[in-house]
Amino acid sequence: MIRPRADLALMAGYHSPQVEVKVRLNTNESPEPPPAAWEREWLESLRQVDWNRYPDRGATRLRQAIAELHGVAADQVFVANGSNEVLQTLLLTYGGHDRTAAVWTPTYALHAHIARITGTQVVEGNRGADLATDLDEVRRLYDAHRPAVAFLCSPNNPTGLVDDEATVATTLELATSVDGLLVVDEAYGQFAPWSALGLVAPGVPLVVTRTFSKTWSMAASRLGYLIGPAELVAELDQVVLPYHLDSAKQLAGVLALDHVTEMDARVAHLVEERGRLVAGLAELPVQVWPSGANFVLFRPLGADGAQVWHDLLARSILVRDFSSVPRLEGCLRVTVGSPAEDDAFLDALTEILT
Ligand code: PMP
Repeated sequence: MIRPRADLALMAGYHSPQVEVKVRLNTNESPEPPPAAWEREWLESLRQVDWNRYPDRGATRLRQAIAELHGVAADQVFVANGSNEVLQTLLLTYGGHDRTAAVWTPTYALHAHIARITGTQVVEGNRGADLATDLDEVRRLYDAHRPAVAFLCSPNNPTGLVDDEATVATTLELATSVDGLLVVDEAYGQFAPWSALGLVAPGVPLVVTRTFSKTWSMAASRLGYLIGPAELVAELDQVVLPYHLDSAKQLAGVLALDHVTEMDARVAHLVEERGRLVAGLAELPVQVWPSGANFVLFRPLGADGAQVWHDLLARSILVRDFSSVPRLEGCLRVTVGSPAEDDAFLDALTEILT
């Protein structure tokens, strides 16, 4: 029987268990559905679609709407099926055979995973002792490997830590010096105090990726995008499959951007709720990392992380288990949910740990 490519054979897949539970706080989704008006408008708009025709290949209206949101030109926007497909298209275009991608761990596992799938060699540096990006480690990888593509994740998944502007700017200088590309993954950017979007400019090898999956309550739609220099976006358009964005999805995105005020209010609520969740965790015997995202990383002290994960699941609460990940030994990650979900989580954790 045919076997996968030899270089794929040793790779572990990327899994987050989809278990039926009462309180689902493991994949950083929004606790709320999109606005009811959006759903009505979207369903209505589907009646206008010519289903026998291919969708608008350039996703013109969607790009225009995203461009307006960020105050950039439409040709600076690339859209795909979730930001994961944005990352994949970047790596298909700028990674691959003979090229190297750099990551600093622990970070979002899919940067390295997708790089490897595209045949890109991956080099890994370490984050610092506090798990923040360590510029010495960034310089070390640039000096040793001159990576074609480098990933910063800010806020970083799963730590929640935000890179400051100096860190991004220094990494960007290094990327520029080796004719490489810096990708700043801002899947959680709306929850953070600043964004690298302001550093995007013509001729600057920087792209910033975003998603509709978190803030926009639209994980089911699979819609993500990047903002970058127009010349790079044109290259990505050549690589991505034609008609990759179906008409229903394009409409979903366009209509969502008519509800920016509501979405912004949700972000504000979640940031406030994150404060409450962190305050609740601070009362318990756990180590907590400061988060600029819609999740919080914590390590139960004096208890086995994997066991705590099971004990939470036994109470129908699902969080993400990072307890066996190097440097995150014993750690769990909880998504900021609704106040009721967060209370259920905190009550259960209190019961387990005290
Ligand atoms: N980047 C990061 C850092 C993420 O955590 C995620 C979602 N887990 C993604 C990208 C991908 O999100 P999506 O494909 O849903 O846009």
